[in-house]
Amino acid sequence: LVSRKKKKEDTLIQLGDTVIGGGTPVMIAGPCSVESYEQVRQVAKALKETGITVMRGGAFKPRTSPYDFQGLGVEGLKILKEVASEFGLKTISEIVDPAHIELACDYIDVIQIGARNMQNFELLKAAGDVKTPVLLKRGLAATIDEFVHAAEYIVSRGNTQVMLIERGIRTYEKATRNTLDISAVPILKQETHLPVLVDVTHSTGRKDILAPCARAALAAGADGVMVEVHPDPATALSDAAQQLNIPEFQDFLDNVRKSGLLP
Ligand code: PEP
Ligand code: MN
Repeated sequence: LVSRKKKKEDTLIQLGDTVIGGGTPVMIAGPCSVESYEQVRQVAKALKETGITVMRGGAFKPRTSPYDFQGLGVEGLKILKEVASEFGLKTISEIVDPAHIELACDYIDVIQIGARNMQNFELLKAAGDVKTPVLLKRGLAATIDEFVHAAEYIVSRGNTQVMLIERGIRTYEKATRNTLDISAVPILKQETHLPVLVDVTHSTGRKDILAPCARAALAAGADGVMVEVHPDPATALSDAAQQLNIPEFQDFLDNVRKSGLLP
């Protein structure tokens, strides 16, 4: 169902006035984790001022270590909803439990399925049973074929509103946190009709190369880029080393916009 051979026209994801997949690329930004109302509000204000309409923020955090911050849970979704309505933003947040999918639809505009859950088939099925758009991340070591089949799980249940996001895969290379597979972008665009995005933060784990990687993603045909922004990254409860602060985010955005690849 997700194949271009089945459907020639691009799938469009409408989030308020923003359309993802229609040829105008979008920037999605926000903190790794929702930590407090004030933290999210500061980011939302900065996004609004720079014309960004879609904000990300994790409330349920699937962390490598059980001793690391696990997220605020439903409380975090409530913060996202309240702040988003104040600034007129649309929101994306990760859901990790099939039992939370329906509840999530009351609070957020896009359900993110994280890399660690790309083949959590019960979660994919639950996301396929609702109408809320889904942002599906590529698994830590998933092939493109496995990634496409994970999307098929969602679409085959009836939810056609699926976006794919390349977030880097595990290779032997240690210079970056993961290896950004830029070739996945044109392949996924050719083989599927779904919007394709690139998460430059988790793929690189390096603030110093975000802008060229974002430009490369857009030049390769990505429908959007996702990046993490935090008001005070040094104190962040997750991904402290790789999040941009607000002035850094503004410079990043200026850089990418100057390339003419992002409006
Ligand atoms: C995230 O985007 O918050 C995240 C945890 O990313 P990933 O699932 O790609 O590791
Ligand atoms: Mn993160």
